[in-house]
Amino acid sequence: MNDFQQIILKGQILSRGIGYGKPIFLDSVNIFEENKILEKEIEEEISKFKKAVVESKKQITQIKKSLSKDKLSITFDILNTQLEIINDPLISEEVTSRIKKEKKSIEAILGDILLEYKKKIKDPFFREKALDLADVFKRITTNVKSIKVDVLKKSSFKSIIISSEIIPSDAFEIDSMNISAFISFSNSYESHAAIIARSKNIPFISNVNIEKLKNLNLSEVIVDADNGKIVVNPTIQTHEKYQVEVKNIVLKKPNIKINKNISLYANVSSMAEIHQLVEKRIKGIGLLRTELLFLENKTIPSEQIQYEIYKEIASKLDDRPLIIRLFDLGGDKTFFNITDKTTSDFFGCRGVRFLLKNKKILEDQITAILKANVNQNIYILIPFVKDIEEIRLIKNSIYKLQKEHNIFSDIKVGSMIEIPAAALISDEIIKEVDFLSIGTNDLSRYTLASQNLSATQLHQSLIKLIKMIVTVCKENKKPLFLCGEIIANTKFLNQLIELGVSNFSIAIKHLDAFEYKD
Ligand code: PEP
Ligand code: MG
Repeated sequence: MNDFQQIILKGQILSRGIGYGKPIFLDSVNIFEENKILEKEIEEEISKFKKAVVESKKQITQIKKSLSKDKLSITFDILNTQLEIINDPLISEEVTSRIKKEKKSIEAILGDILLEYKKKIKDPFFREKALDLADVFKRITTNVKSIKVDVLKKSSFKSIIISSEIIPSDAFEIDSMNISAFISFSNSYESHAAIIARSKNIPFISNVNIEKLKNLNLSEVIVDADNGKIVVNPTIQTHEKYQVEVKNIVLKKPNIKINKNISLYANVSSMAEIHQLVEKRIKGIGLLRTELLFLENKTIPSEQIQYEIYKEIASKLDDRPLIIRLFDLGGDKTFFNITDKTTSDFFGCRGVRFLLKNKKILEDQITAILKANVNQNIYILIPFVKDIEEIRLIKNSIYKLQKEHNIFSDIKVGSMIEIPAAALISDEIIKEVDFLSIGTNDLSRYTLASQNLSATQLHQSLIKLIKMIVTVCKENKKPLFLCGEIIANTKFLNQLIELGVSNFSIAIKHLDAFEYKD
């Protein structure tokens, strides 16, 4: 470490803590990144390509199978086209011969081929084909990356993951590995990768100049996400100072005193968190992010698997409430390789709208929830609602499935309020549901047209919207929850309590900081 100069870079804290280890660059945004390889690595690169092609074929076939009883014929056609592309021997031959000739990584070669193809085409039909090609190449590169990550898994070193943007599946998949911290350029506090990192206690600093880091000679990196800085190539003295600090980290004592009329619930995104919940003094689970819960499965699990998991979680809570949010997929939540190619509207097909277009996914999940509700402590929460009609359609599906499966017990249904439009019509939405839940991550992002929630004070517009929602819930005598990350900031918490919010759902990591007043 002495041959390298110590450099300190500043960044934005997304998840607190201190981590140190060897840097690993994992670029998820520009996955077709230019990258030279050595002569001796050529055969290894070709073998990784072949393995990734086999894995990609398996995945597409699996997705096709899971859709086979479905009416999603467009998805079906797309998957068939993708299988044709992946089975095309000309593409495989071209990639392998170019890896040999140009001595570039698979990612770089696939990126080049794609670019050349796009330049050549004028016809709209072939432009569509280019999208499919891009999707297949993306899948292959992701699989190549995971073969590379597999290699990392075997490493016994502590590692710091560096990427221009950490995507949620990165944050999730490398969880089991020896990862000490994340560094990125563009993640925001509310990004889902940041939420996962916080829930898994992985220190995370963003807004860091990754290009600069790439050009440095790196030996070791310390991520001090308590003070918003990273130390590159620490001196022996710095290294020792941090080693002592990491050893001295003890669980923080509760420091936020709250009144007994405030109820704390937990936000849950993984099964690991469920196991941590046992001793926590919470009123229940205020937000089960089901789209994150199954992220490790790669595809959405069957009704039976979902049923078993929801039932297990509900019974762990005894009679305390479990609010299960229906899959919030689409938009920036493109998990399980499910994207809707029938729309060019990025926001238009997220959450409830995605579910209404993908009836099998919706109905499987609702059926699993209805069957799992044996203790009568489960509530359904609808994500990313914008219109009353969306709620009515979901409720109709619930009634239909209750009838079909002879389940006549009542189940309460709530709506997320996380789009400004929904906040503005919350007086009408409340009439259709049993409770509301404010999602401040999305509500602030789309109200303020900004990724970053102001760290200093709540914007006047958010105060107005939240006041409105509090009033409609009070007038209609229906419960209101607030489940965004905003509560991690105690300044905001007090302000929200003053505004009349009393049910907070919080990341498990932050629960220990709270203590009820005597
Ligand atoms: C929110 O938007 O505040 C929220 C809780 O939902 P998610 O972060 O899962 O989008
Ligand atoms: Mg949201």
